[in-house]
Amino acid sequence: MAVPNDSPVRVRIAPSPTGFAHLGTASTALYNLLFARQNGGTFVLRIDDTDLERNRPEYELLIDESLRWLSLDWDEGPIRQSERLDIYKEEAAKLLASGKAYRCYCTADELESERREAQAAKRPYKYSRRCLTNPPDDRSEFAVRFRVPGGDVTFTDMVRGEMRFDSDLIGDFIIVKSDGYPTYQFASPVDDALMKITHVIRGEEHLSNTPYQLMLIDALGYERPQAFAHMPLILAPDGSKLSKRKHPESNLMLFRDLGYLPEALINYLALLGWNPGTEQELFTLQDLERAFSFARVQHAGARFDWEKLNWLNGEYIRRLSVDELTERLKPFVPQVDEDTLRQAVPALQTRMHKLAQAIDYLDFLWTDPAVPALDGDAAQRVKGAIEAVRDVEWQPEAIEAALEKAVADSGVGKGKFYTPLRDVLTGKKVALPIHYCFGLLPKQVALARLERATRVTA
Ligand code: GLU
Repeated sequence: MAVPNDSPVRVRIAPSPTGFAHLGTASTALYNLLFARQNGGTFVLRIDDTDLERNRPEYELLIDESLRWLSLDWDEGPIRQSERLDIYKEEAAKLLASGKAYRCYCTADELESERREAQAAKRPYKYSRRCLTNPPDDRSEFAVRFRVPGGDVTFTDMVRGEMRFDSDLIGDFIIVKSDGYPTYQFASPVDDALMKITHVIRGEEHLSNTPYQLMLIDALGYERPQAFAHMPLILAPDGSKLSKRKHPESNLMLFRDLGYLPEALINYLALLGWNPGTEQELFTLQDLERAFSFARVQHAGARFDWEKLNWLNGEYIRRLSVDELTERLKPFVPQVDEDTLRQAVPALQTRMHKLAQAIDYLDFLWTDPAVPALDGDAAQRVKGAIEAVRDVEWQPEAIEAALEKAVADSGVGKGKFYTPLRDVLTGKKVALPIHYCFGLLPKQVALARLERATRVTA
């Protein structure tokens, strides 16, 4: 029962608030958003929060915050499944009344021994239907099981084409648990049907759930979504399944905290699993709306690649104006005043691939480095540098010119001259160009660090 093709496109994401916001949620949200925008459709945010033990409101807040950070704006919602429990009860009652579902009184132990028997006999496990054929009359606690009608379930997948599943391989499955809560397998298709979702776009891990969910929609007499799209899994860099516990890259907020720009992450996620068929690599959200199509989505899992993300993020950083980059850097280096930060930006901009690197480059401004023990020659050069810059205008260009002159006078190369200076001013092996190390510090502080070092010779 496909919905008529002229019905307005409605898509949804349905994250579960059971942990930190997941990278996969952002990627699924992106594809849903693109498809909705391409078709003048509506993008719904549904919160799948029927897992009482694992749901936390703070996790829902993280989903909200991370989607907003990425500008993956939804049009409707959030709609919480926990506020729709009456609906699932009613739908389950309909299935019970029509004999399409039945009460199952089996205990966990009984089910486990059925499963073990099947295993011992080396046959795939399917529920025995004991409670359908011969229900006990002395028990009161029950779950509700769907009676799988059998036969093929077919549907269109926009990535994988026409799909066919043999439902005879699927045992009758639980749709309402003994605590009265619906399972994901039940609540999800009920909502998709009642919310008139026309296209279900989600991760490949849900491909095998689709026949279960379509059987339920059919049994309830609702219209099916027109089509599905099961997007490739995002894999860890080593090719294994991306796991919340093992792989930091699964945590969406990590990217914000490290200083990946939301527009760069969106661009990266789009290219992870999809390719435009051209050489173009930089895409704004608007570009993606134009270029994206499910036809160019790959089937195989997509490996996360930090190098590619770093490259893209660096490209985005270099395209920002000085003002814009200054703004974006502020939360990373709150110790630095705005003028100093703006002065540092041209040097930072060519060196960073993520904003948090600014901390390493700039922390010499608010932490006093250890005083190195210089040898006599190095101390001499530091003294030369002090004299060279003492009376110049205190900004990087003027300092640079003065230092270059001092280098020429010293008879040693730039590297040799600047190394002790950098060491004394920043305590670092890798730092901004030397005239920035001078100019970003207040003049008295820079001179005091240098003078102090001339007194601690090796
Ligand atoms: N709550 C499910 C998840 O987070 C939703 C899957 C779906 O889109 O149906 O994976």
